[in-house]
Amino acid sequence: MFSLIGKTVLVTGATKGIGYGIAEVFATAGADVAVIARSSADIDRVVTELSRLGTGTVIGVPADVSIAESCRAMGAAVVDRLGGIDVVCANAGIMPQAPIATMSPAELSTMLDVNVKSTIYTVQACLDALTASGAGRVIITSSITGPITGYPGWAHYGASKAAQLGFMRTAAIELAPCEITVNAILPGNIRTEGLSALGEDYLASMAAAIPAARLGTPADIGHLAAFLATAEAGYITGQAIVVDGGQTLPESFDAVSTVR
Ligand code: NAP
Repeated sequence: MFSLIGKTVLVTGATKGIGYGIAEVFATAGADVAVIARSSADIDRVVTELSRLGTGTVIGVPADVSIAESCRAMGAAVVDRLGGIDVVCANAGIMPQAPIATMSPAELSTMLDVNVKSTIYTVQACLDALTASGAGRVIITSSITGPITGYPGWAHYGASKAAQLGFMRTAAIELAPCEITVNAILPGNIRTEGLSALGEDYLASMAAAIPAARLGTPADIGHLAAFLATAEAGYITGQAIVVDGGQTLPESFDAVSTVR
């Protein structure tokens, strides 16, 4: 049960943070993994690191997923080098802050290009290969921010993460006849390089508001992605699955602190 050996997995934004965690879990499980990002130097480093983990092949393909042509070239390169694509993890994303009052059209466009259009371009670019797989999987990294919660300064980010779910639900219906499932993971606060840079005091205050009393790890997200990629998860589609240690459950801070 639950084998990923022989599966070919494309992960966008796989050189850092959550994407690295997803790629690391798939590589450890013996899948063939394609590491996608813009920086070739980062890709080379990650391919070397992940190649040591499992029995599968790990390759790197530079691509800017906010550009449709770049995504098409990415999909073609992965099929050419790994022979097909069974699983697409559309994970790459950005989260710069921009208050509504001063958000520029350029800031809004970049957010939607990198977080929303990229998701659709990535799926389009891999669609023929996913169909040929006979058990294709699309796994989108959304967020609790937007679909469930809000945070001042990140209105455009929240809109982009909610938009991914709109795409996901129709894609799940439209691609079902091709035996492709489409699901989204909604991470809570995950301890990535970017979040760690905010400092230990800030991280401790975030952890205090989470029932599990810790931030998530990239591997926490990778483990759900790996399960969604298995044959056993083939009847799950169109779902938005929260992985947040219970962060979105408490009605108030007291609800957490009274049980500590
Ligand atoms: P991260 O650490 O900043 O890593 C981002 C990755 O995406 C890098 O590999 C980066 O490499 C790549 N990337 C960025 N823009 C790209 C583009 N245009 N084309 C191709 N690759 C691109 O990010 P993260 O915090 O792990 O976030 C990853 C995903 O998780 C995002 O969708 C984010 O919304 C979501 N998320 C994160 C958290 C969290 O707590 N961190 C919580 C909820 C959801 P290059 O710069 O070399 O391209």
